[in-house]
Amino acid sequence: MQIPKLLSKTRLMRGYQCLRSIYMTIHNKELEPPVTPDLQAIFDQGNIVGAEGRKKYPHGVLVDFPAWDFFGSLKKTRELLKEETQVIFEAAFEYKGCYARADIIVYSKDTKRWSVYEIKSTTKVKDEHLDDVGLQAWIMSNAGLPIEKICIMHLNTGCRFPNLISLFTEVDVTEDLRNRHMSIAPRLTEIFKTIKEDSVPEVDIGPHCTSPNECPFIKHCWTQKKIPDLSVFNLPGIKSKKWDLYAKGILTLDDPRLADLTPVQNRVVEVFKSKKRFIDTHGIKKAMDSWQFPLVFLDFETINPAIPRYDQTSPYQQVPFQFSAHIWDSPESELIHKEYLHTDISDPRPRLILSLLEACKGNGSIVAYYSSFETQRISEMAEYSKEHKGELESLGDRFVDPLPIFRDYVYDSGFEGSFSLKKVAPSILGDSQSYDGMLVDNGTAAQRAFEEIIATATNSDRRQELISASLSTAVKIRW
Ligand code: SF4
Repeated sequence: MQIPKLLSKTRLMRGYQCLRSIYMTIHNKELEPPVTPDLQAIFDQGNIVGAEGRKKYPHGVLVDFPAWDFFGSLKKTRELLKEETQVIFEAAFEYKGCYARADIIVYSKDTKRWSVYEIKSTTKVKDEHLDDVGLQAWIMSNAGLPIEKICIMHLNTGCRFPNLISLFTEVDVTEDLRNRHMSIAPRLTEIFKTIKEDSVPEVDIGPHCTSPNECPFIKHCWTQKKIPDLSVFNLPGIKSKKWDLYAKGILTLDDPRLADLTPVQNRVVEVFKSKKRFIDTHGIKKAMDSWQFPLVFLDFETINPAIPRYDQTSPYQQVPFQFSAHIWDSPESELIHKEYLHTDISDPRPRLILSLLEACKGNGSIVAYYSSFETQRISEMAEYSKEHKGELESLGDRFVDPLPIFRDYVYDSGFEGSFSLKKVAPSILGDSQSYDGMLVDNGTAAQRAFEEIIATATNSDRRQELISASLSTAVKIRW
């Protein structure tokens, strides 16, 4: 059984989360699904944030070796330390088979010690960051690097484009890490002992399967545990109670011991057992009493870059770049479709606002599924646009939301416990409203398509293909 000579901090953190997970990532790699485009987008965003953080030290020297080249990175780091380089990016260290790279290390001639800066693309320090940076500092100090302090640099939500001077907040975690230091060696001993075993360790499934990160072996382990495709884990709003049920062996939705459920959870169970759609037409009619024609069924697609790029936006602020509006003037009329898709690097908001106001003119109701998302974007655009502030604010008063109506008065077995539009629309309106098989099949795919459309490197054929795909997804009724 082949054990790698060095285990990266990323892999070791898998062991922190679950011993079975690190064992399988080494010995059963074939069970690990490939990185999804969504996950890759998160990695890419992390790299962009890392590169932005390094700008604070323009004279820093990068250990310019790929992530997989452990020995090249270690050799280059040793050379830079020997040359007394003052600021090093991605310096690599190893100790007793553990390997880590530091985002930024800065030498102080006064104290003859190093400050370590770890860049995180989150907007606060999370507990798992302390584990991660604690392990890194442990490897670095044991490798012989004298450390003065350790800081986490995370994104500052108070920062506004174009002034990115305050993009990062630095949090000194040296003291917090001191308290964790003693627990690191025993944890690593357990990890190394486990991975040398002849067989995969028995670890039960639990909250650790999804926290702090979703484990790639979920499908494998959950299948082994015979969790049905539709189970108590699919009950809406079940939260941590699902683990109490699992501990009692209650898994299926027709288990007679299933008790103390909310009305919505009860409905899911009843439909599962009866196989009959639940629909309360009286309740629906009453809830829709206030809806007024012309109805505008509205949906936004938004981009929320970690590094803000549009005027007065903050890290991760959602900025609409596309909308789709289906307009229904009266019960007798046909639906009319209006839309806007931004296709260049400029700020999407000025042109989108004009199109949106044109599409939503009149006094009827604006229908948006989970409308708080749309109303929040409208109020942000009202803040941004002095010229159209009043008109945008008046749109906010016209919103109605079908989501609570579905939650309270409709349930179909096709929802599979979820009231997301992705489940609800095809179940009620048929497969023609499914996004399956489309090039742009969800919100994050729409974001990736947008990034590619506006990138200067994208050739015109590809750009046109993405524009067509984004628009054809928008034609579907997505409220
Ligand atoms: S799915 Fe859960 S139990 Fe299985 S390896 Fe991952 S974390 Fe461990």
